[in-house]
This record gives sequence, C-alpha cells and structure tokens, in this order.
Amino acid sequence: MKRALITGITGQDGSYLAELLLEKGYEVFGFARQESWYKPNCGSHLKGKVKILLGDLTEGVDIANAVQDSQADEIYHLASQSRPGESWARAAETLTVNGMAAVRLFEAVRHHRPDARVYNASSSEMFGQSRENRQNESTLFHPVNPYAAAKAYAHQMALIYRNSYGLYIANGILFNHESERRPLHFLTQKVAYGAACASLGIMNSPDLNERGRPIVENGQLALGNLAIARDWGYAPDFVRAMWMILQQDAPGDFVIGTGEQHTLSELCEVAYQSVGCDWKKCVFSDPVLVRPLEPGCILADPTKAKKMLDWQPTVNFENMVTLMVQSQIERLKPLVDS
Ligand code: NAP
Repeated sequence: MKRALITGITGQDGSYLAELLLEKGYEVFGFARQESWYKPNCGSHLKGKVKILLGDLTEGVDIANAVQDSQADEIYHLASQSRPGESWARAAETLTVNGMAAVRLFEAVRHHRPDARVYNASSSEMFGQSRENRQNESTLFHPVNPYAAAKAYAHQMALIYRNSYGLYIANGILFNHESERRPLHFLTQKVAYGAACASLGIMNSPDLNERGRPIVENGQLALGNLAIARDWGYAPDFVRAMWMILQQDAPGDFVIGTGEQHTLSELCEVAYQSVGCDWKKCVFSDPVLVRPLEPGCILADPTKAKKMLDWQPTVNFENMVTLMVQSQIERLKPLVDS
C-alpha cells in the first residue's frame, strides 16, 4: 500500500486530495496544526480515515518528524498562508510559512526520505503582472505581492533541490480553484454567500467580514475591484491534477488552469442570476477593498498538462458557481427557517 503525506489537510485542497488518495487505496497521513485539527475544518470528516501528525510549518523539527514518521512515498506540500490579499499585513510570516517551510521540507526529504516524490504547491499568482497574455511553464514570474514572492522562492528552491540532489520534486503552478469548501473570506465564496443571502432575503448576514461588519449589510455585498479577471476552476479537478503530476516518470513543472478567463463582474452575474437576482442591485465596489497592486492578465495555457497528463477540467465556471451558491443556501436556510 502506498503512503502519502499531505500538509494542509485541513484546507480545501488537502481535504479533497485526501479523499482522492483514500479512494485510490493510499494510506494517508495529514500534517495539521493542533488547534485547527480539533476544530471544525475542511478535513473534519476524514477523522479516523487518515493519520494525523500534529505540527506547525514554522517549526522545522515538526516538518522533519512528519517526513520521518509517515515514511511517505508521495508528499503533497499544500500548507501555506494562502491569502494573497492578507500577505501584505503578514509579509514576513508569509515568507516563513510559504517560502522557508518548503525548503525545510525539501531538506527533510533529502536527509530522511530521498526516494519520496514531492508535490510543491506553486501558484499562478507568481506570474503577477505578466507580459504574456497566457502563462505556461516557461513564462517569467513577476510577483506583485508577498504571497506570490514567497511562492516564487519556494518554486525556485524546488528546482534547485531537484537539480542539485536529484530529488523528485514537482511544481504544480495552479490557477485559482474554488469549491463549496472555500472559507467565507475568499472572494468567490463571498459572492456565493451574497447571492445566497439575496435569494433568501437576508438583508444583514449573520457572518461577518474582515472588518467585523456583516458580509451582506443592508442587502449590499462590498467587493474590491470588479474588473479583475481570473482563470477560475473547480478544486476537485485540480487535486486530481496534483496526483497525476506525481505519477509521471520524471519530476516536472505543470501549469494547471481551465484556459478560460472571467471577470469578478461576470462571477457576480452568474452567481446572482442562478437565484434569479440582479447582481447590480446587490453588489458594490468599495475602494478600501481594492488591493494595492493587482496581478495583470492571468490566464492559463495548460497545453502541457493536457498533453502529458491527459488532464481536463470536468466542471465549468457556471456549474461551479452554481454549486457554491446552492451550498451557501443550504447552510443559511436553517437560520432563516428558525
Ligand atoms: P487553504 O484552504 O487556505 O489551506 C491552507 C492550509 O495550510 C490549511 O490546512 C492551513 O491550516 C495550512 N497552514 C497554514 N499555515 C500553516 C502553518 N503555519 N502550519 C501548518 N499548516 C498551515 O488553501 P488551499 O486553497 O487548499 O490551497 C492549497 C495550496 O495551494 C496552498 O499552498 C495555496 O497557496 C496553493 N494554491 C491555491 C490556489 C487556490 O486557488 N486554491 C491556487 C494556487 C495555489 P489551518 O487550518 O491550521 O489554517
């Protein structure tokens, strides 16, 4: 039986990936912070099915212990401070968690598990203000926030460890992927939540935003720049790609994205339309929420993944947004009924 270690198992991708690997017959180990594992999290339903190794990415010894204790054949390094918008407020911590921790993991693999295959979670945010209209594995990085800069560091260190020590370390450069499991502070989930509130007639939502105000206040959802455009895919499709990447004979780097781009306005339109509401009456752009620097045109060229992995997304943008809105309606409906 193959063994896999997943860092970030309490997160969106980690929890979907654990399900996929369990289905495939792997013995799954999850690396998680103690305080998170014992609270409700995306992976709560996995209790009893996976073995949890408690630790924090900021502690090198915890990472080394997880690599040794799991004796994993495949290591999926997904844990990170995963919010680019928050990384300005926590720039140094973001470098430690998203950059240095990856190096500590590579060191642990080099010393304790050199035959393991490692997946490193790189990000399309690294392309930042790219000069290319579409980005692939050869596109230069122009990171424009501390999150992306730390990810670019980890990405480069993955290449250095691969080439210097012959380790099997693969980088997955994933474009945005969303799901019903996205926390409420992520943009797409906020929109899904806003549409659910509109559908249920909730004028002041029970859940609060980062400023301690209802996410929907007086029937209005505040967002940042509505013109930003992203390549948004569905998370379960993307974790399937992670597994495929580690099944290749040689380690490589792969861009994973749908190759389709949508603006935030379009996202709002699809979400509110799915419940018969007009988004323009319910959403406004609040200058306070606009990021200091936005990435430019971020659009995947996933040709290599399609050709070498035979990877294709199975859930399109409209269906994904509708799934997210419906999930928020199910969550909020009991509050309205009570
Ligand atoms: P997520 O839901 O935010 O999960 C992040 C995970 O990292 C959580 O399990 C979190 O644990 C863990 N973590 C954070 N700080 C930690 C620390 N100091 N020690 C141990 N664990 C820590 O993110 P995701 O969407 O699943 O993304 C997975 C990976 O892919 C991340 O590296 C992300 O940057 C990258 N990525 C994501 C996307 C996307 O669109 N989703 C796109 C490109 C790349 P807690 O529960 O304890 O906070």
